[in-house]
Amino acid sequence: MNLYESIKKQDKEVFDAIAGEEERERDGLELIPSENYVSKAVREAQGSILTNKYSEGYPGKRYYGGQPFTDMVENIAIDRAKKLFGAKFANVQTHAGANANIAMYMALLEPGDTVLGMDLSHGGHLTHGHPVTYITKFFNFVRYKMKDPDTGEIDYDEMRRVAQEHKPKIVLAGFSAYPRELDYEKFVSIAKEVGAYSVIDIAHIAGLIAGKAVKNPFDYGFDVMTSTTHKTLRGPRGGLILTRENEEIGKKVDKAVFPGLQGGPLMHVIAAKAVAFGEALHPNFQTYAAQILKNAKAMEEIFRARGVRMITGGTSNHLILADVYGSLGISGKEAEQLLDEVGITLNKNSIADDTRGPMDPSGIRFGTPAITTRGFKEAESAHVAELMLDALASRDDKNKLQQIRAEIKAGCEKFPIPDSFV
Ligand SMILES: *Cc1c(COP(=O)(O)O)cnc(C)c1O
Repeated sequence: MNLYESIKKQDKEVFDAIAGEEERERDGLELIPSENYVSKAVREAQGSILTNKYSEGYPGKRYYGGQPFTDMVENIAIDRAKKLFGAKFANVQTHAGANANIAMYMALLEPGDTVLGMDLSHGGHLTHGHPVTYITKFFNFVRYKMKDPDTGEIDYDEMRRVAQEHKPKIVLAGFSAYPRELDYEKFVSIAKEVGAYSVIDIAHIAGLIAGKAVKNPFDYGFDVMTSTTHKTLRGPRGGLILTRENEEIGKKVDKAVFPGLQGGPLMHVIAAKAVAFGEALHPNFQTYAAQILKNAKAMEEIFRARGVRMITGGTSNHLILADVYGSLGISGKEAEQLLDEVGITLNKNSIADDTRGPMDPSGIRFGTPAITTRGFKEAESAHVAELMLDALASRDDKNKLQQIRAEIKAGCEKFPIPDSFV
């Protein structure tokens, strides 16, 4: 099946945009740690006729008729998600990670309740209570931080003190710009001490957990995990909410997602989630997840050897946060633009206690999930790190930049994006 044949015939404008993006993805290196390449099977499921169907409700309890196949699809997705993460209950209907978090708050909180989450400038996500999000009109957010940005250790004593002072209903772990593993036992014990639910947002590391490359928070007693399905997990864009064992919580989550927050589920996306979960259950996925970490370590070693400060001193997961302004005198925004020119896509990022503003911060954030999907191993990853630092040192040398661009394009040709992983 050629996915674009009909669009090409019918709608040249949209076809050209898709073809352009396909070329961009093919010829450049994707280092944004929240992005990945999905299999053709995932794309076929997402492009399927399941988009035609209204399926409000849950399998066996729908508001419309004609559901034998949608029930099948959603049950497969739920069963696979439960198996992957060791959960008793899974909700696969949230349209995105942000919705998953909003539904989780609605399931577990009353208006005015308090959430203790990671400070946003220390790695937390917008949906963990950034003042620009509407959720902060309804719930109160208090913070914990790293004790020392150069080691990355969370200040658990301060976290406990804030928990005892503010009595949160949720102790929330999880991050989108933090390169280390958390002390899950401490999170769960602090939550228990103050009678809070323990929740972790695993959006970034879901694939690493599913692939058993990092610890599974459920083994440490977390009540709930929220996630995206499109980052390290390598599925379609979407959300996921997992409940470890408490049936009452599982039911509250389902009610919060529908009818609380959303209307009809995106059944074509749920089918694509099911296919991606099937891929993640395959033994190959564990090799993939382990390689993501090895590749990040290989990049870390080059950055360290060349004297670039990394927040937390390095990485234990798939991402690195580098202080390019402090180490190389080039701002995050400038670095992002310069690397874009040579065919490397990543994002500028604030670093802990950044002295610069969020639109032009001190850092860059990058990671290895997508290049690992392409088949890069440690040697290629280390070479990418070398090329990045060469480019950042050559901002006025057009010839050198062109040479790096050509080298990156050749590397992409040698490692084409695969269609299948099983
Ligand atoms: C990416 C991310 C989200 C949001 O996911 P969307 O699908 O973009 O809504 C939520 N939490 C964390 C920690 C994330 O990294």
